[in-house]
Amino acid sequence: MIIELSDRQEYILNIVKENGPITGEHIADKLSLTRATLRPDLAILTMAGFLDARPRVGYFFTGKTGSQLLTEKVKKLTVQDYQSIPVVVNESHSVYDAVCTMFLEDVGTLFVVNNQAGLVGVLSRKDLLRASIGKQELEAMPVSIIMTRMPNIAVCKKDDLLIEVANKLIEKQIDALPVVKETENHQYEVIGRVTKTNMTKVLVDLSHDRMDG
Ligand code: ADP
Repeated sequence: MIIELSDRQEYILNIVKENGPITGEHIADKLSLTRATLRPDLAILTMAGFLDARPRVGYFFTGKTGSQLLTEKVKKLTVQDYQSIPVVVNESHSVYDAVCTMFLEDVGTLFVVNNQAGLVGVLSRKDLLRASIGKQELEAMPVSIIMTRMPNIAVCKKDDLLIEVANKLIEKQIDALPVVKETENHQYEVIGRVTKTNMTKVLVDLSHDRMDG
């Protein structure tokens, strides 16, 4: 369970389970504590979703376990909560330029756009390495020759569920997805990126219970 409850919180939970609905006052009586002392514990239990409160009725047990609440939380996370800034290169840029951009911007995936800023391709580290072991002149080779191109690019939108993006990353065995927005001329504008690093951040935040909602 991610949310670690204190002994007193566990105790409160049991009181509510057995006696709910029960007012804060009555819980306090049973524990021989003041209502004020109890308030933070009740707030935590309610916010975490273990308890629910109804005015004039009191607290009652929601019946949800820690892992159910965790699942609910994860399923609420959307791309916009965790996305990073995208790094793009123009389709006319050379493979040499793309390698430099990848190092300078410190990213593992570049998105390739046309002159209208519409998404046309993706470049991964391996795409660039593959091109580099050939005999060709990297400065003369446009990225459009080696990139993975539309319509074979997996994309996501800012309101998509993060768990769906995580599934796509695993299914397609890729490191990143561009976050896109459809433009008036039916192209995709790249407004963000979601990578395996963002997913790792979700895990760390979960362990610290730092997610909102
Ligand atoms: P690496 O090549 O460093 O292992 P990836 O696993 O992300 O990085 O890339 C593997 C292949 O998938 C590359 O050829 C890349 O162009 C392609 N690729 C990367 N991201 C996407 C995406 N979002 N949609 C489709 N193909 C992608």
